[in-house]
This record gives sequence, C-alpha cells and structure tokens, in this order.
Amino acid sequence: MRRLALSLAFLIATAPAAAAQVNYDTVQIRTVKAGDGVYMLMGVGGNIGVSAGADGVIMVDDQYAPLSDKIKAAVAALGGPIRFLINTHWHWDHNGGNENFARSGVVTVAHENVRHRMSVEQFVTAFNRHVPAAPSGALPLVTFTDSVNFYLNGDSIHAFHVPPAHTDGDAIIWFRRANVVHMGDLFFNGRYPFVDLSSGGSVEGMVAAVDRVLALADGNTKIIPGHGPLADRTGLQTYRDMLARVRDRIKRAVAAGQTLEQVQAAKPTAEFDAVWGKGTITPTLFVEIIYTDLSARR
Ligand SMILES: [Zn+2]
Repeated sequence: MRRLALSLAFLIATAPAAAAQVNYDTVQIRTVKAGDGVYMLMGVGGNIGVSAGADGVIMVDDQYAPLSDKIKAAVAALGGPIRFLINTHWHWDHNGGNENFARSGVVTVAHENVRHRMSVEQFVTAFNRHVPAAPSGALPLVTFTDSVNFYLNGDSIHAFHVPPAHTDGDAIIWFRRANVVHMGDLFFNGRYPFVDLSSGGSVEGMVAAVDRVLALADGNTKIIPGHGPLADRTGLQTYRDMLARVRDRIKRAVAAGQTLEQVQAAKPTAEFDAVWGKGTITPTLFVEIIYTDLSARR
C-alpha cells in the first residue's frame, strides 16, 4: 500500500487554488483554431477541444457547470448540435458541466475509471480536497476500456486510454484528419504538471503517455494541453525533456537513499523553475509528488 506524506505547508499553499474563488460571471470563453474544423476553447479549468462540421459537434471536456451556457454559445458559433462529449479524466475542472450537457441530449463518454471515480467521493491528497460523488446525471453515459472511435465531419476521431499517468482513467483524443491531439492533463504547457497519485497516477506513466503522442505527432500536429496555450510537437518534446530530466534526478536520489528534505534542498528543478514553476504545482510540490511516487515504487 502506497503512503502519501505531503507536508502541511504545501497543502495550505495549494488549497486556495479551489475554484470557489472564481467569479464565473466575468469569465470569457476564447476560441483558438487548432486545425481544419477543430478548435480549442479556453475559459477557466481544463482546455476544451471541439470538432465542428456537417455532422455536428464532438467536444472534449467542459470545465465548470456555471460556464456551460457560455461554452454552448461559443460552440454554437462554430456549429452544432453537440452530439458527443468526451471527458479526458475525472477531475472536476474538466467535467463540471457534464450534467448540463447531458440534459440537453449530449452523449457523454469517458474511460470506465472516470465513471467509477465520479460515482463515489474522492480524496485528492495533494490538495487535501474531498470531492463529493457527482450526481447521476453527470456520470458518463458511455464508457470504454481501451479505445473508441468517432466518425464525424469527415474525420476519424480516436479516443484511447493510456496506462496510469495523470490518473488511472486518462484518455488522449486524436483528431486524425485535422491532425490535432487533445492530451487532457497529461500535458501542462508551461507549468509543472500535476500527477494525481491518489487517483492512481504515475510519473513514469506521464512520460510514457507523452511518448505515445510524440510517436504519432508530426511537424504539423497541433496539441491541446489540459492547461496552458495550444502547442505543437516541439513544445511537447520540451515538456517531455523537462519531465524526464527531473524524474531521472529524483530517481537517482531515491536510489541513493536520500530523504525528501535532502532532495528538495538539492533543488533538482532549479534550471526549469523560471519557465515551469509559476503554476499551482510549485517546484517544491512537484518534487514532493515525484519523490513520493518513485520512493513508493522501489
Ligand atoms: Zn486533472
């Protein structure tokens, strides 16, 4: 049984990131074109992906419930009706609008572990946060274990699960013709990523998931991260290099028997902090999560 030992100071430091402080009335949904008929929508919470065309709309993730009307308006400007909504994983900042969309006839789809986790109360250790079970109307109506394909708008849209990475229910959505990939929280562009160990996540799995996308992407692929601006293969490679470098350093330290305090004192992320260290996952918390994960797997 793995034990997490995140210190109280970090819990206090990150707890205020809760969405309760957001004034949704002032949020604007920004639309960024990612490929032919495919768009990224940015508001508050996880980035949304949209394919819009003659067959209607398929959406990926939906942020928070109070934003559903604004998101619907932004999507309506691109096309409609919305037919399918895929959740990249169970976290509340990616599927808070599920019930609103399902009520208007949208078929919600996710990996089966997303439905499992949403069905019962969850505790996210890194944020010291209890997340209540979602109402039944918010649960994905269709689940898959390995992958599922959608054939809309002349595209073949491949949603596939990867072994535990950000959580144990992650899906990557590949819009093959448009050459766009939505990675959910497997990719934080420009900030240290969160690895949700309490939801079955794994640092090694994060690197492996990134490698899956690097293998299918080419120089023209656009990549929608869970958080941060639209990226391409080069940007994803830079993220992968950072992640693997920090993992390798901490792995060596764990193998040498160092304590978390010793590893943090050595500042294994120092060279990356100016670029990646400004998000919710601070350098100290990032090191702590990786250390906790790797030391539990020895
Ligand atoms: Zn997440």
